[in-house]
Amino acid sequence: MQKQYDVVITGGGLAGLTLSLQLKKAKPDISILVLERRESSAEAAAHKVGESTVELGTHYLREVLDLKGYLEEHELPKHGLRFFFKTENKDDITERVELGPRERLPVPSHQLDRGTLENYLAKLTQEKGTELILGARAKSVDLSPEGHTLIYYNTDEEEFTVKAKWIADASGRGSFLKRKLGFSKPMDHAVNAVWFRLKGVIDIDDWSDNQKWKTYLKSGLRYLSTVHFMDKGYWVWVIPLGSKNTSIGIVADPAVHPFEDFNKYDKAMEWLKKNEPLCHQKLSNPDDVLDFKILKHYAHHSERLYSADRWGVTGEAGAFLDPLYSPGTDFISMNNGWLSDLILRDLDGEDIAFRAEIYEKTHLTMVDNWIPVYQNKYLLMGNTQIMVVKIFWDWAVYWSIPAVMYTNNALTDLRLVKELFASPDSYGRKFGALNKKVQDLYLDWRHHETAIFKNRYIDPFDLAFLRKFQQGIDEKHDGKSLVAKIKTNMELLEKISAEIFRLISSQVNGTSKDIPVNPYEMNLSDPGAMTKNLHERDPEVTKDVAVMWFYDKEPVTV
Ligand SMILES: Cc1cc2nc3c(=O)[nH]c(=O)nc-3n(C[C@H](O)[C@H](O)[C@H](O)COP(=O)(O)OP(=O)(O)OC[C@H]3O[C@@H](n4cnc5c(N)ncnc54)[C@H](O)[C@@H]3O)c2cc1C
Repeated sequence: MQKQYDVVITGGGLAGLTLSLQLKKAKPDISILVLERRESSAEAAAHKVGESTVELGTHYLREVLDLKGYLEEHELPKHGLRFFFKTENKDDITERVELGPRERLPVPSHQLDRGTLENYLAKLTQEKGTELILGARAKSVDLSPEGHTLIYYNTDEEEFTVKAKWIADASGRGSFLKRKLGFSKPMDHAVNAVWFRLKGVIDIDDWSDNQKWKTYLKSGLRYLSTVHFMDKGYWVWVIPLGSKNTSIGIVADPAVHPFEDFNKYDKAMEWLKKNEPLCHQKLSNPDDVLDFKILKHYAHHSERLYSADRWGVTGEAGAFLDPLYSPGTDFISMNNGWLSDLILRDLDGEDIAFRAEIYEKTHLTMVDNWIPVYQNKYLLMGNTQIMVVKIFWDWAVYWSIPAVMYTNNALTDLRLVKELFASPDSYGRKFGALNKKVQDLYLDWRHHETAIFKNRYIDPFDLAFLRKFQQGIDEKHDGKSLVAKIKTNMELLEKISAEIFRLISSQVNGTSKDIPVNPYEMNLSDPGAMTKNLHERDPEVTKDVAVMWFYDKEPVTV
């Protein structure tokens, strides 16, 4: 007799295990089977990438899944994302323009050791009654309204068959369902990555003896940041892990850095020596290397995500864009929110056809709206002034709209989704159009902005709007006040983008810093075509945006 489950989850990584916990929390008697190909527990440190979390994903882990206690005891707190930009002398870290928070952040995030975390999640979900089989590889599936039939193999290649009302595919890059049903879609963003873990703690505060530089922020906070060293076409990450090891990665656009130049450990060390000599000096300890992994063209897309025929995909089995701002766990959080909602409603007897369609559309639109954040943007990574403005813009956009919607459960509220996305001038749609306009502006600006700056420290929270947006993530709203909040945030984004344009156009075209700007019509080649402001200028916003502008400001001396 074949065993029958409410849900079979193919893949017991972060997405699959968290989905099982979310379902169990909502409906403790739900029967779930998780099939995981790996044969034994995950190794600490050298397991998977996806170590740095940001606000939305952290909210999911801490508040939605109640993992706050575990995270605070076993994983590291994170001190934001930190960037070091291009300089002529990369041997001296104190010369590089540094961007990152000085003070502890009010909204938390974590650095995750993925092996430790996945082992804990596996144990927890089994304690709640989920069945987890290790060494089980999902092989084929027959989808049917009467119940799906799934075949998997164990490590001895023995075949097993199970029945399920729902199949949730969380097989990561294995993309089990995407391959079976053929709904892969091209993604025009072909960047490559390699990563490795080093035994031991690496604190970049120790990379210079300069006392003034060290005291820009409290001792220990640089260590807890996700550190990015950046120049044209690439960034290098340094992430501390709770297991007292360190994760290091190189992510690069092949248009500037061919993959063959760094896709093996020895080549990666040569590449570091040439492009990031200080990193090479501090990070090339072959005796301490725990692993070395590569991934070519990591971005991928999907035509489908959720079906009323009782299947769905979550995590990397669906779409993945780019790790620059550590958004993988964010997408898993939203993905699992939609998928678990569909499963639970269906098991309660609700007709989910309309919801499944709306959730899929919203999710795919969100991915599409995010593509311009990364596409061709590696070419800008050697332009410090552009990247500072872009990074601050990208955070403003992320904190003010998707993060607030997520923490206020708006993504599964059909009335709100309709209000925010249905008409062409709804805020959700305008958000995508505005972001695309600003991202295109950065590409146009690239042809004019080439200055190399040094000796500057810039803190995102010196800008009042970024402080407000980040703190706003944890504010609770009912439906009406959330729509009002999104409207206020959108108007602020429109004002910010207009001020950014005024500064860029003044530099590129010599226009005055108070020209009329409608952010939806911004065009660096023809700034005079805009004859009216969309909004009255706000002196607070003008002052804040000017903080990002390095021209006319003295460097700090170290
Ligand atoms: C270079 C890079 C850096 C990244 N950095 C970050 C970061 O800093 N922060 C962040 O949030 N995200 C980051 N990400 C994204 C993050 O890695 C993913 O979002 C996350 O790991 C996806 O989890 P998942 O559970 O979907 O997939 P996985 O963790 O890959 O889990 C899938 C599981 O399915 C199993 N499996 C596969 N096929 C089958 C099968 N047929 N049957 C049964 N089991 C199967 C696998 O063994 C695996 O355990 C990064 C991604 C890349 C490429």
